Amino acid sequence: MKRICVFCGSSPGAKPEYLDTARQLGQALMQHKLGLVYGGARVGIMGEIAKTVHELHGEVIGVIPRELFQKEVAYTGLSDLRVVGTMHERKALMAELADGFIALPGGLGTIEEFFEVLTWGQLNFHQKPCGLLNVAHYYDRMLDFLDVMLEQQFIDLDHRRMVLVEEKPETLLERFAGYQPPQSDKAAWALNLTYGKKEGHDSQ
Ligand code: AMP
Repeated sequence: MKRICVFCGSSPGAKPEYLDTARQLGQALMQHKLGLVYGGARVGIMGEIAKTVHELHGEVIGVIPRELFQKEVAYTGLSDLRVVGTMHERKALMAELADGFIALPGGLGTIEEFFEVLTWGQLNFHQKPCGLLNVAHYYDRMLDFLDVMLEQQFIDLDHRRMVLVEEKPETLLERFAGYQPPQSDKAAWALNLTYGKKEGHDSQ
């Protein structure tokens, strides 16, 4: 692995643990000789992790859409800040540049980005690890909801297990190193559930 893409809040959040863990993740990336790919802003948790890695002279690639760049939230001190046309282009480039994905605490943007890469993973469009840093139990109820999806048969166990959850950056990166992607593919699983023998229909 060369680089990890980190999704996280453009705000600092209410608890000091969120920023503390962003700094710890930045340091852990350095220790593992991993570069950082992120959304290119200088605000909130995003700014904190980028600043940590940048000040330690690690590799930081920021990818920001032009519209946000013009709003002056960009971390212009980065040596590799890529300005792209749209949010879609940004997410595609971030995903292409990274070998794994981590979400720190964040809001709508963070959740959307994390679930997008998970969705691509369950369809086998990539085989890269996806992990959550569940700092101060921030994601507990979202993880409960993933269990509801499993119980209600909208995801299967292999795909539920794709979400690696840890509290400490170091532990999460260790799990990334030994990650085995799921063998099953969501599209095939859905076809089987819909038309498979289990339901009394012929396979199609
Ligand atoms: P949020 O969690 O809603 O604060 O959104 C943060 C995520 O969405 C980040 O991982 C970014 O990729 C993207 N994003 C949202 N707001 C900004 C911003 N002001 N500047 C750069 N990226 C942002």
